[in-house]
Amino acid sequence: MIKYLFALLILVQAGTVWAQQPAKVAKKYFADPEIDIQTPWFQKGNKFTTYDEMMTYINKLVAQHPGIATLSYIGKTQKGVEIPAVRIVGKTRNTKLRVLFLGRVHGDEPGSTEAMLYTLDRLLNDPNMTYLLERLEITIIPMVNIDGGSHLERVTANTLDLNRDQSKLATPEAVALRGFYNRYAPQVVIDFHEFQPLRADYTLISSDNITNSFDAMFLYSGNLNVPQELRDLTSRKFVGNARKALDAKQLRHHDYFTTTKKFGEVVFNVGGINPRSTANAFSLGNSVAILMELRGVKIGKTSLKRRIVTAFTLAESYLKTAYENCDEVMRVTEQAARNRQDIVVTSKAKSVDDYVLPFISMNTNEMIDLTVNASLSLESTPTLTRKRPETYYISASHTEIARKLRELGVTVETLGQPETINVEAYTVDSYKAEYTLFEKFYPVKVKTTVDTKQVSFPAGTFVVPMNQRNGNVAASVLEPEAANGFINYRVYETEAGAELPVYRKMNSDK
Ligand SMILES: [Zn+2]
Repeated sequence: MIKYLFALLILVQAGTVWAQQPAKVAKKYFADPEIDIQTPWFQKGNKFTTYDEMMTYINKLVAQHPGIATLSYIGKTQKGVEIPAVRIVGKTRNTKLRVLFLGRVHGDEPGSTEAMLYTLDRLLNDPNMTYLLERLEITIIPMVNIDGGSHLERVTANTLDLNRDQSKLATPEAVALRGFYNRYAPQVVIDFHEFQPLRADYTLISSDNITNSFDAMFLYSGNLNVPQELRDLTSRKFVGNARKALDAKQLRHHDYFTTTKKFGEVVFNVGGINPRSTANAFSLGNSVAILMELRGVKIGKTSLKRRIVTAFTLAESYLKTAYENCDEVMRVTEQAARNRQDIVVTSKAKSVDDYVLPFISMNTNEMIDLTVNASLSLESTPTLTRKRPETYYISASHTEIARKLRELGVTVETLGQPETINVEAYTVDSYKAEYTLFEKFYPVKVKTTVDTKQVSFPAGTFVVPMNQRNGNVAASVLEPEAANGFINYRVYETEAGAELPVYRKMNSDK
């Protein structure tokens, strides 16, 4: 009962800056560095940078650097606002590694936009950074969710969360972002977010009035379909170097975690493997992809210089790592695109009950270690694996499947002539829709059996060759049991006992 009252009290307070990060905590643990930052938010009061202020700032910088920086637009938001992308190419025109930085995928994370504007300024005006442009070209999209961002809302205008929408593409913004990603084909993608220091669940594991102790948290893919070599390059080199860069400035960091309640107990989910979010979606697209969580949501302008410096330190570190390992990054990302390993359809994270995390006690203003239950995505093991088909065949009537695949960057062909061949067909053994609404739909879980049979496919049948660079993207949405896949996220409907409109043609010499 006391625990419950305590939780209620914190929930009531959770909306206020004070509850998230009292002045004594900010002063002791999140002090601002001595540095001059001239981005729009620092030129005014507490209200964050608006879209128009951002555009004025970008236009000025681009005008000052003709031939080096160019402004284009990747598409429009639901309210018709153009989403800007600034490309920085440097003076030389050799083949370069392409790096994409994203800010403000969530509208209520304004520090991410500010960090991108500061990074843009440094890349264009700091002579110590110019050398990076000899081997890199960098594109920055500082505000992806402009509609939500205009009034500090996490979601887009149709109330969907862009970072839950990278496999379903139910928002025009996600379609525009994926389209740009597919055309630009960056080898490195870093998506900057902000996290809320205090979570209501924290009151259930401690009466110390605890808050998150970190400046930054790293989310990089634990998805088992991302080739090991690409995962290693991402975690060891890119994340590894970034940790050292933060350490050098005494900025605290950790692997990303969030909390959920399982049977009334709070579990810390560490890492992530779901294709619905950017880091995994772009890793499956063969990029080094990392989502950065910076301390920031609901703390207003508190510690803003420190937050910007933290983000910039990360951006600079990632660029340096890309520059210094240019050939290896090219090789590993190309190799990933040719990956032909078996498909891990489902997997299970490792559960532990002795995971130690440091928090700040807001009662004593001291750091305390807590031992918590955790689910470790980065140590997942496969629970269902299937051989990679040579080709997926998709019934011609399911145009929505073909359209989504193409939006995701997958090459989809059509049969010119009818074909009668042996394929593997899925039959739905069990079907269950969840009871709680997620992003305006009830996710579906199925189990299937796969049988070989002869099927006659008419001309016009959609064909997805798997010797393409986006084979992993195709498998991650077409395999029926896959989390965030087309059945789970209801891109098409099925039912128990049904034969699916998706078939697997296996390699004939196996
Ligand atoms: Zn976010």
